[in-house]
Amino acid sequence: MQLPATPTPAKRICLLGDNGLLVRDTALQLRTAGFEVAVATQLDQLATQEGLGCIVVDPASHGSRFSDPACAGAIRARCAVPVPILWLAPLDKFEVRLAAARAGVDGFLARPLDIDELKARIETLAQRRNPAPCRVLVAASGAARQDGIEQALAQGGMEALRLHKPLDLLATLSRHHPDAIVIDVDTPACDGIDLTRLIRQDPAFLDLPVLVLSARQDPATQRRAVAAGVDDFLAPPGTPADLARAVTMRVERSRALRSLIMRDGMTGLYNHVSIKEQLLREMARSKRDGSPLALAMVDLDYFKKINDTHGHQVGDQVIRAIAHMLQQRLRHGDLIGRYGGEEFAVVMPGTDAAAAGGVLDDIRELFGTLRHKADETVFHATFSAGVADLEDAGGGADPADLFRLADEALYEAKRAGRNRVALAHAGAGRG
Ligand code: GH3
Ligand code: MG
Ligand code: MG
Repeated sequence: MQLPATPTPAKRICLLGDNGLLVRDTALQLRTAGFEVAVATQLDQLATQEGLGCIVVDPASHGSRFSDPACAGAIRARCAVPVPILWLAPLDKFEVRLAAARAGVDGFLARPLDIDELKARIETLAQRRNPAPCRVLVAASGAARQDGIEQALAQGGMEALRLHKPLDLLATLSRHHPDAIVIDVDTPACDGIDLTRLIRQDPAFLDLPVLVLSARQDPATQRRAVAAGVDDFLAPPGTPADLARAVTMRVERSRALRSLIMRDGMTGLYNHVSIKEQLLREMARSKRDGSPLALAMVDLDYFKKINDTHGHQVGDQVIRAIAHMLQQRLRHGDLIGRYGGEEFAVVMPGTDAAAAGGVLDDIRELFGTLRHKADETVFHATFSAGVADLEDAGGGADPADLFRLADEALYEAKRAGRNRVALAHAGAGRG
């Protein structure tokens, strides 16, 4: 399971509010968290904003011009293209949440401001604005039905994959990892509900959105569909736009949930479990195409001292800073995870240990020049890294070997004085 997009770096957003002090403070926090923030105090200023990932409405209090979420309609009307709206309410009140839901506001967050939460919510919404195209597997009995569904999906901007034989269902799902499946099969031997049960038997596909088209819409069949794990049980024919909309909604929700499950809340990087999954997947891919693959373990130096001297919150800022720099400096296809507290794992497909070490060394040098602020003082932080590649691991299939080698190299880097990058087997040569 891979996310549709790699962790997204700074996003352009607009912060809308009429209390200058409050909005400036929120803007400052968001900029520190890596966003490019435009501030607007009037609706008319929205018209000139371009390329926004999200609009954050930040009303100060009850008297604010923007305190009623019903003004979301007016906000939308001022934007040239649709932009997700996130409501940052001064208080968590049910009536305001309800009004926001009615007004079609895309996200709701109440003060006190939790900047990590806000950052994660903006990123999720911004990804929705520019999503990777949905890939949908279509299983239909009969060429005409198959073509009809594929056309409906294509009109909705989706890519359809064809299932040729029900027998190949699980193998096709494993090979292509589609975002959803649409089933329109109704033979005496097997129907969409049976196929859904078969899919749900495999834990790997428990969260795959399944949409079934069926002419049998009686309550007993509908109950059977729900019990089998069908997400949407639709009556054909329906318009092509209805089908495309239903699939898009399911895929958006499933992507948002997957992102929550797979990401670390503080940095937005892959979490411990998912970076290990990504490594396993990339190792399999590298072995298939005979391409190199490197793993780097990165650990902040003397981090306990940073916490002890400046406090845990400043420590957190340093963790965010390194996460941000890794996201900015590494290639799009590199996969970055927060492996533990102040330890990170970077999977670099198509790269051997020497090249990966060079890239990490440049980042190390740059990171050391960053100025971190704590009260009245400014300080610098460094990291050490250990790098190993598939060849170091003898081409084996066990990710644990690669982790062990990268970890040993990291230990070497620490032992040799920290603020350096060490390669596995550097001294011993290969083979
Ligand atoms: P070394 O150079 O050998 O890596 O020394 P170190 O002080 O960094 O040692 P170590 O890696 O053992 O220390 C990690 C510390 O990081 C311990 C823990 O309190 C702190 N830490 C772990 N997670 C977090 C976090 O999320 N935020 C903050 N502020 N500190 C954390
Ligand atoms: Mg450390
Ligand atoms: Mg550590």
